[in-house]
Amino acid sequence: MSEIAACPFCGDFDGEVGSTACPNIAKGGFKKAVYCNACFGEGPPCDTEDEAIAAWNQRAKAEAA
Ligand SMILES: [Zn+2]
Repeated sequence: MSEIAACPFCGDFDGEVGSTACPNIAKGGFKKAVYCNACFGEGPPCDTEDEAIAAWNQRAKAEAA
């Protein structure tokens, strides 16, 4: 699994991947998103954990720039 970058909202490294409330019909489950345990920020919902982490990391980089 990819590394989860610092939270784009609060800068903490307390993010983890969880299931979102959005059903993912194609994969028979729920979408994945990275959540920050420090500020409860939420990343973009994606089909897989890796995609969710990539999307979170991209946002973290965009916020830092
Ligand atoms: Zn945070």
